[in-house]
This record gives sequence, C-alpha cells and structure tokens, in this order.
Amino acid sequence: MRWIVYENEEIIAGTSLRDDGFSSGVFAYGNVAAYVGDDEASVLRNRNALADAVGIPLSRWVYPQITHSDILAEVKRQDQGEGTLSVSLKFQGVDALYTKEKDLVLSVFHADCTPILVYCPKMKIVAAIHAGWPGTIKEIVSKCLDTLIAKENIGVSTLRVYIGPCLCQNHLEIDRPVLDKMKTMSFDVSPFLRYRDPDHADFDMVGCNVHQLVSRGVPMENIVIHPECTYEDPLRFYSYRKEKITGRHVSFIAMKK
Ligand SMILES: [Zn+2]
Repeated sequence: MRWIVYENEEIIAGTSLRDDGFSSGVFAYGNVAAYVGDDEASVLRNRNALADAVGIPLSRWVYPQITHSDILAEVKRQDQGEGTLSVSLKFQGVDALYTKEKDLVLSVFHADCTPILVYCPKMKIVAAIHAGWPGTIKEIVSKCLDTLIAKENIGVSTLRVYIGPCLCQNHLEIDRPVLDKMKTMSFDVSPFLRYRDPDHADFDMVGCNVHQLVSRGVPMENIVIHPECTYEDPLRFYSYRKEKITGRHVSFIAMKK
C-alpha cells in the first residue's frame, strides 16, 4: 500500500492511497473501509498491507465508526485493535480520537472529508479528527481543541497539525439547506464561501477548519496542508462526491515508541 507520509522524530502519520491494494471494481484498489459494500477479506488485506507499510501491526490500530458527529473520545491501551477486524462497538459515532499512548495508531476514514491529524509535543498527545462539511459546521476542530485544552492542558502554540487530501473549494458546492445550517456557527463563515447565486456557494472546507485551529492559537506555520483535491485524481483518491459508491482512505497518526 502506498501512502502520503507525515513524519518527524516523534510521530508517524499519513493518508492511505487507492492506487495499490487488493480491492477491485469501484473499490479499486486500496479501500480500507468495510461499511461501503466492498469485500471484507479485501478490506482486511488492505488494512494489513497498510499496517505493514507503516511498520505498526494492525493489532495496535483503532478504527472508529464515524458518523459526521462532533464527538471526541480518548483511546487507552486496552482499546488497541478496536474496529480493525469488525465494526467498532466502543467508538460508534465518534469522529475524533486522541491518546497519550505511544505506538498506538489513531485513524479516521474519509473520501472527500477533511482529515486532521494533531500532535502536541508538550503533553505527548496525538489526535485524529474527521471533519466533513457537517463536522466543519459543527466546529468539531474547535470543540476538540477546547476539550484537550481544558482536560489535558495541551499547548496549542506547540501543536503540529497535518491536513490530508480532501475536496478543494472548487469542488465543494453547497446549497441553501447547508447554508442555513451554517447560521448556527459561532463565527462568521462568509470568508469561506464563494456564492454562485443566492442559494449556492463553493465552500472552502479546509480554510474553515484552519480558521478553527488558528482561532484557538495554533500558529499558521505549524499547519501542513496537503495540496491535492480528492475530486481531481481518480487514480490516487476516492471521491464520494464524484463516484457515490466508492472506497475510503484512512488518515492516521501515532507517537513512535
Ligand atoms: Zn478540487
């Protein structure tokens, strides 16, 4: 399995790609999500192939069951392997995970949504957040940071953040019902909207999540944004918006031993 690699001396993180693996048809090749209709044996082979490529066995990964919620859960050592061989029961409807454990891989599935991977060198904490447009509107990133500041004393100015491949603004048109949902947000979202007409706009989902990070005190220079859009390269990326029935990537982060 090939993957986009983010790495430094303390963490290993990344995003799986679709261009290699054991799935076929609309799920070709590197699908790692079982709930999309793909053959489960192929999904498991892909998960193991990715774990081998990363160098941490699948038994130390955690795959939550994401649902576009704004829920953050802490992962403890006894949770390792959760969701890797069958759907996670413990992390149902959980779209963000964090841990203080080393050599334990947190992951989130996505195909177009924004994967956000966070490392706090001060408190030795990693987090993985899934923020599609619903999670972005629910301000999941702001909520996660607020919780981690209050509960774990993370140093926001020290955070390292990696934003993986997702939809760019040109490929994320939203309509009136979604625009109406945005009225619940705690900040002015208009800088991240480019209107086509009064009821349709292109949404800068990455920009809106970066705003949530920066507004909590994360320095812009600590945020690495992957430049590719999932809609634009069907050989390397799944795009739910483009293909509807398709596979999922996984973005993940772990502290090294
Ligand atoms: Zn695009």
